[in-house]
Amino acid sequence: MENFQFYAPTKIFFGEEQLNNLPDILQEFGEKVLLVYGGGSIKRNGLYDAVLKLSEDVFEIQELSGVEPNPRIETVRKGVALCREKKVDVILAVGGGSTIDCAKAIAAGVFYEGDPWDFTSDSSLITKALPLVSVLTLAATGSEMNSGAVISDMAKNEKLSLGNSLTIPKASILDPTYTFTVPEYQTAAGSADIMSHLIENYFKQTRGAEVQDRLAEGLMRTVLQYTPIALKTPDNYEARANLMWASSLGLNGLTGRGKGGSWSCHAIEHELSAFYDITHGVGLAIITPRWMEHILSEQTVEKFVSFAVNVMGLSLIDDRFALAREGIRCLKNHFTSWGIPMTLVDVGIDGEKLELMANKAVEHNTLDKAYVPLYAEDVLSILKASLN
Ligand code: NAP
Ligand code: FE
Repeated sequence: MENFQFYAPTKIFFGEEQLNNLPDILQEFGEKVLLVYGGGSIKRNGLYDAVLKLSEDVFEIQELSGVEPNPRIETVRKGVALCREKKVDVILAVGGGSTIDCAKAIAAGVFYEGDPWDFTSDSSLITKALPLVSVLTLAATGSEMNSGAVISDMAKNEKLSLGNSLTIPKASILDPTYTFTVPEYQTAAGSADIMSHLIENYFKQTRGAEVQDRLAEGLMRTVLQYTPIALKTPDNYEARANLMWASSLGLNGLTGRGKGGSWSCHAIEHELSAFYDITHGVGLAIITPRWMEHILSEQTVEKFVSFAVNVMGLSLIDDRFALAREGIRCLKNHFTSWGIPMTLVDVGIDGEKLELMANKAVEHNTLDKAYVPLYAEDVLSILKASLN
């Protein structure tokens, strides 16, 4: 295990009716609130009304609506201008990862003289941020409990990350009932994203981080157990609660700290979204099994055996490679059974830009420091294998 700092300061309010704590939570940070939300799901399921009912008499509320899935830098800039004009004290993000990510970039952008896009190349430019509170509506990204934000500039075909400890939400309200209305496609994509966060941290070069790996295995098994239930019965509280908490714990540092190196599949997926605006979790589900097949070797096979046995529940057999491949096949089968389109062609991506995306993935990330170092030709090969 490597040396590490673990800092997960977000105060979590988990469970039904926890929204009632909102006024108390916000009061700590001021009176002027910027309410940030997406394309309208919170208006359709009543959450918007509930938030306003609790807060509009006590706080002065400005709104920024229409945050896009794969949130755009233009929306961040709009939010920054609004915060400055209205002298906002605290940002309240109500939605999924896109809304929370956008709110993080706004929170940091308010105190920065340059353009918030600069943070994507140097997050140390974030020296101050408005306090951020979130109400989560989709179990997926872990953004409700971490510092990261992923923002897109579609004019440049770039989707890049930013964030530091200042962009971690101060508090997040996690009421699983708010995820009852998440459509099947987004439920499946969210679970694939949680799986990917855990897999990215699980497959790392650092050895001996057993705590992290055993936690990750338990969280992965939980996601595999409950996703089919949530898909079949969207209002199953137990399933939604377990997926929601797995989302937060899957990317709050618990399974990643103490293990060095870069992620692989997110780096590749961000290029797919940057060029084709696809759903993040779907891109990850397509890429992950192909990446696993690409990196399976004598050096990595033992880790794949652990994955097959401890996550997929397969029995130990003598042929380690056969077991490893079966583990990968099981993962792919889970994604397929959740209804995820499992090829690039299925999501409207053809071969035209694969080489360009492979080069960009290497340019934008330190893939040479990944579990198995990847170069442009490796990424291209993974993308080609994902086509059909
Ligand atoms: P999302 O993009 O926030 O939301 C996806 C869709 O689901 C939207 O159309 C949204 O509609 C809808 N939705 C959300 N909650 C709903 C509900 N309760 N009922 C009905 N519909 C609902 O999805 P996400 O997967 O949470 O976030 C994806 C983004 O996060 C990507 O940009 C990805 O790269 C990024 N990401 C961030 C991190 C991180 O650590 N920060 C990690 C991984 C990924 P509305 O817009 O109408 O609300
Ligand atoms: Fe992700």
